[in-house]
Amino acid sequence: MKTYTGGCHCGKFRYEVDTDLEKVIECNCSHCHMKGLVLSFISPEQFRLTKGEEAEATEYLFNKKKIHHLFCPVCGVQSFAWGTNSEGNVMRCVNVRCLDDVDLKTLTITAVNGKDY
Ligand SMILES: [Zn+2]
Repeated sequence: MKTYTGGCHCGKFRYEVDTDLEKVIECNCSHCHMKGLVLSFISPEQFRLTKGEEAEATEYLFNKKKIHHLFCPVCGVQSFAWGTNSEGNVMRCVNVRCLDDVDLKTLTITAVNGKDY
């Protein structure tokens, strides 16, 4: 497991995340498709916001409202989110595109069919 740093485009939000980037997903639902999100889910202990307050982010909920999509009110980038999984556990989620020095071409990205759910 490695510690990656990341954040939104303008730098209002910065975070650290402990992950091996083993499971990275690209979902084809209307929302992820529009935003081009490439996501990695981690447990809450693996995520630390180092700059910015979570309450300052704008929240967007849709469909089953299971994932709290948070985006920066300044630059509009969604760099992290949180939600609950099917077992009801709180999960964190980072947008892999927002991690520093990660080359998406080196990752195995799993396609998730969110469009039909
Ligand atoms: Zn920003």
